Amino acid sequence: MSLEADIVVVGGGIVGVATTAALAGALEGDADAEAGRAHASAAGPGMAAPRGSAGTGRVLLLEAEERLAAHQTGHNSGVVHSGLYYRPGSLKARTCAAGREALVRFCAVHGIPLERCGKVVVATRERELPALDELERRGRANGLRGLRRLLPAEIRAREPHAAGIAGLLVEETGVVDYGAVTARLAELARARGATILLGARLLRARREASGLSLETASGRVRCRLLVNCAGLQADRVARMCGVDPGLRIVPFRGEYYALVPGRRDLVRHLIYPVPDPALPFLGVHFTRRIDGRVEAGPNAVLALKREGYAKSSFAAADAWETLAYAGFRRLAARFWRSGLGEWRRSQCKRGFAAALQRLVPEVRPGDLVPAHAGVRAQAVSPAGELIDDFRIVESGGMIHVLNAPSPAATAALDIGARIADLARRRLAG
Ligand SMILES: Cc1cc2nc3c(=O)[nH]c(=O)nc-3n(C[C@H](O)[C@H](O)[C@H](O)COP(=O)(O)OP(=O)(O)OC[C@H]3O[C@@H](n4cnc5c(N)ncnc54)[C@H](O)[C@@H]3O)c2cc1C
Repeated sequence: MSLEADIVVVGGGIVGVATTAALAGALEGDADAEAGRAHASAAGPGMAAPRGSAGTGRVLLLEAEERLAAHQTGHNSGVVHSGLYYRPGSLKARTCAAGREALVRFCAVHGIPLERCGKVVVATRERELPALDELERRGRANGLRGLRRLLPAEIRAREPHAAGIAGLLVEETGVVDYGAVTARLAELARARGATILLGARLLRARREASGLSLETASGRVRCRLLVNCAGLQADRVARMCGVDPGLRIVPFRGEYYALVPGRRDLVRHLIYPVPDPALPFLGVHFTRRIDGRVEAGPNAVLALKREGYAKSSFAAADAWETLAYAGFRRLAARFWRSGLGEWRRSQCKRGFAAALQRLVPEVRPGDLVPAHAGVRAQAVSPAGELIDDFRIVESGGMIHVLNAPSPAATAALDIGARIADLARRRLAG
């Protein structure tokens, strides 16, 4: 099979699918949709062409797996983040707020359950109070409505089983099934003429005078512009395209437990700790999922396989690439103590339960059963820094999403719209 497209999006997680939908003009309020439908560029000789997409010509999404949302998007906590944590003015702060609003509208229009249940962040020790103050300051700077400091009695009025010497109520947080959101985005993109190929891993890319020639697991594709949304493989896809990403993806597995059904009433909504400001992870927390299950987690354990969901998962190439990376070794030298603690908690349910008991003292190891796991794509710089903000880089006819960790699922509709704008300008220029 040989295909031709104007734009190829690599990766069928929520970021790639939202980008494809935006490029196809499938999203609510997309002003280019009608105009773009008229755009019909002819396929080259001997080439099958995806049907003309509205908005930006022919759009083709390549997904390596046989289904969409197979990795981070299908293995996350399902939280619609408010924007509390992020440095004001950062891309995370801006896209989280705009993406959350767009997501709430999208789910309402398309009948996808989304519950704006709010969450409480609880400080359980005096030394966490300055970080709680900083969260409140950031939340206000990021324009959150309904952000309120809670006294211990007010924490318990909302979450009767939670501990805490002080708390923060974040009303705008919610829960949703990101797999369902991705599936609906894909339907809309297809209806607008975008082509989505599953089992079509990008294997090689070669630059040509007028674009790129791509070799995939299901045939050749030629395109004018490539958008890399490959999540855990984003750095490798960039290198495959001849771009030095200037970072490496280091995978961190996050394991969850579920509360047994008879103990779900320990948690009404979402209960979070005050995160360690030095780390990009939020600390194990309780999440009531959209289907009523209550989960606890995720921890953050170095994964020895990028798409490895079991404790025993191992891929020699992935492990070697991480361990041989100077950036990782510098990171490990700084954080080995907390890394070891996470590893111990991963091996021992009692340790995991002890971390949760700080938030809800009544939780016992017997209340917890192992649930799913996810692997986070965390970009690390050669200097050993955990890259905090989203990183989207344009380079020679390509757009690479090199760092899209949490809250990228919340922010995906806004990230997709931004990438579609960049792509349109690039194709027009
Ligand atoms: C444990 C965990 C909990 C999280 N909790 C939340 C949360 O509650 N709220 C929130 O907003 N965010 C959360 N996140 C973050 C969020 O899930 C991610 O930021 C988001 O899903 C990233 O989407 P993506 O499309 O970039 O990546 P992915 O969903 O990983 O998709 C990338 C896709 O690219 C494909 N791919 C890779 N290489 C190739 C190739 N060569 N050719 C073709 N396809 C390829 C992969 O198969 C994959 O489907 C969490 C993440 C994890 C791991």
